[in-house]
Amino acid sequence: MDHSARPSSSNASSTRVVDVLVPVALNQNYSYRVPRGMELKPGDVVAVPLGPREVVAVVWAENANPDPRLHNRLKDVGEKLGVPPLKQELRSLVDWVANYTLSARGMVLRMCLRMGEHLGPERVRMGVRLVGAAPKRLTPARRRLIDILSDDLLHGKSDAAKEAGVSAGVIDGLVDEGTLATEPMPRALAPPAPDPSFAEPDFSRQQRAAVDAMRALAANGSFHVALLDGVTGSGKTEVYFEAIAEVIRRGKQSLILMPEIALTGQFLDRFAQRFGVRPLEWHSELTPRTRQRNWAAIAAGEAPVVVGARSALFLPYANLGLIVVDEEHDQAYKQDEGAHYHARDMAVVRAHIAKIPIVLASATPSVETEVNARKGRYQRVVLPSRFGGQHMPHIEAIDLRREAPARGRFISPFLAGQIRIAIERREQALLFLNRRGYAPLTLCRACGHRFACTICDAWLVDHRFRQRLVCHHCGFSMPRPHVCPHCQAEESLVAVGPGVERLQEEAAALFPDARTMVLSSDLITSIETMRSELNEIAEGRVDIIIGTQLVAKGHNFPRLNLVGVIDADLGLGNGDPRAAERTWQLLNQVIGRAGRDQGRGVGYLQTHQPEHPVMKALVACDREAFYASEIEARERAGYPPFGRLASLIISAGDRPTAEGFARKLAAIAPIDERIQVLGPAEAPLAVIKGRYRFRLLVKSLRNVDLSEYLREWLATAPKTKGNLKLEVDVDPQSFL
Ligand code: ADP
Ligand code: ZN
Repeated sequence: MDHSARPSSSNASSTRVVDVLVPVALNQNYSYRVPRGMELKPGDVVAVPLGPREVVAVVWAENANPDPRLHNRLKDVGEKLGVPPLKQELRSLVDWVANYTLSARGMVLRMCLRMGEHLGPERVRMGVRLVGAAPKRLTPARRRLIDILSDDLLHGKSDAAKEAGVSAGVIDGLVDEGTLATEPMPRALAPPAPDPSFAEPDFSRQQRAAVDAMRALAANGSFHVALLDGVTGSGKTEVYFEAIAEVIRRGKQSLILMPEIALTGQFLDRFAQRFGVRPLEWHSELTPRTRQRNWAAIAAGEAPVVVGARSALFLPYANLGLIVVDEEHDQAYKQDEGAHYHARDMAVVRAHIAKIPIVLASATPSVETEVNARKGRYQRVVLPSRFGGQHMPHIEAIDLRREAPARGRFISPFLAGQIRIAIERREQALLFLNRRGYAPLTLCRACGHRFACTICDAWLVDHRFRQRLVCHHCGFSMPRPHVCPHCQAEESLVAVGPGVERLQEEAAALFPDARTMVLSSDLITSIETMRSELNEIAEGRVDIIIGTQLVAKGHNFPRLNLVGVIDADLGLGNGDPRAAERTWQLLNQVIGRAGRDQGRGVGYLQTHQPEHPVMKALVACDREAFYASEIEARERAGYPPFGRLASLIISAGDRPTAEGFARKLAAIAPIDERIQVLGPAEAPLAVIKGRYRFRLLVKSLRNVDLSEYLREWLATAPKTKGNLKLEVDVDPQSFL
């Protein structure tokens, strides 16, 4: 059809229409008319009216046969934005993820467009500089400003005003008087590109085979999954850097996903040592301006290497050539809000769609990945030992039934003795306890009253540093009272159980001369303070580190040789099908911090169940025993990866509504002999933020399209009205 041959009239049927996906919680596309003179094709980023607002959206398809009756009701596309179009590859990923996770497509698209509020060319910032003599009338505000500008350099106008504590009007006044002049700030220069040959390390003989495999995979360039499987300290980072170097040489982009990007200052430095410059970062702590600039650089293909948290997976790379998922087993890759997706799994999907290689790196692969490697679906690239001949830590169990700490204490006498020896040798010790705060429970000695959150089914956690009792589920907090609210007894409250703050108190009492430091996510005020604290530890200015799982990940502390796990049983036996796997991974990871540089590392596990298969496998350093028993157990139970799981979480402001809806859902589940619907059961966390929660667990054989089954089922479900909410979690990681 030749549009241009038709008479021009805005209502004529020749008007072009496009289907646009808007980044809100909607699944379907919306049709818009294309204004005359605007050229649009799928992938173009546009601004469109949506209700009273204008939103940034993406053209998904040409609508060749728009319903003519709708024409006059359609709105026009507002504007085509000057950014590169979203490639087919990314649009396919959006559709795929939405379909698999049963999320609204608009919600998934939103993750691709998180570039800050302001799209389009970067705004020109104005600068100000001193050009003339100071005026006669010199207020203190004017004086402060002139002082700051007396270096004769160009300062950002708003920065200068902020620094001097004056309003922009003060600057404008001095401009009028000829003292100052404004001019546009020069654009920030694009950062220098990483140099693949900047500092290639000498690889050990064992590393060389893995390096060859990495280079080959990068050079081949097609879809291929490799598991880089190496013990902690074996040099996995160094080795996958070679795949990245190869991809840089080929002019393509690499993405490195990390479970907790906010904490990886050391990683950025290592990258710079290898490639000469730091990579581009992507995570939630970026300022809006940096976010916008980084997004634009990624879309323009000007960022050869991006390191980011899971959300970086959805960025519009111009020419992605490789994905690396570091610590692929980490639970932090699962997003449990909005779209419930697993970034590691979706990274494999993206690599498949984009036809590029992907490297999954871990010392303790997830059972899913391990099985894929055993079946030959993933290539296994092994680094069997630590770099530089360092030994793996020696691991011992401390049987708490025999070596019990004193009442109200948590460090056993044996462990205390070992810590003392370490400190005398001027080495560091790390005490690991995965519990924030001072104590997980506070009760009244007089009446037994326990402090619980008023809107969650959870005890309040005592945080002594902040002097408050805090709910870890909703953030509610209250000052720690001096009087029991129940029986009015004074100073009757007792702390029950340990948190890291209490452990520090105990360590400080045991070793008064030692320098202790607590690392816990709730004590971090900013990434910068966190990074500087980690540096202090790395430089040896701390003797005893007390930390939650925050310390388990990725850090290199050269003087750390002893790790004491205060409660090795903590993660076991809560009915979670992944409890054993998680405990194995976490404890391996945290003990793996020991003895990375010199000396022999040692890990002590304080446990009440040294006979537990996980403890035995840890002590024997028997990786094979752990995977063999865990794989066997999963296969027997039909759990992933031998079967599939999905959770439906139903919540409401009152219990009967939530339970009633959950029962109704279960009753209308389509019959299918390959699928079991379990529940509803009250969730282990039965109330969060005043919402009552019930769960259904859906379990199927491996080859079933569970998403499709859920979609058909839920299409027949009654609408969720009022504050009733239904969340779908395909491949759940959390069962709380
Ligand atoms: P992993 O990620 O497997 O735990 P890392 O990549 O952190 O191990 O490596 C452990 C340590 O060994 C790091 O300090 C790293 O710089 C060093 N290292 C590894 N391989 C080499 C090499 N070929 N040359 C020099 N240093 C290396
Ligand atoms: Zn709460």
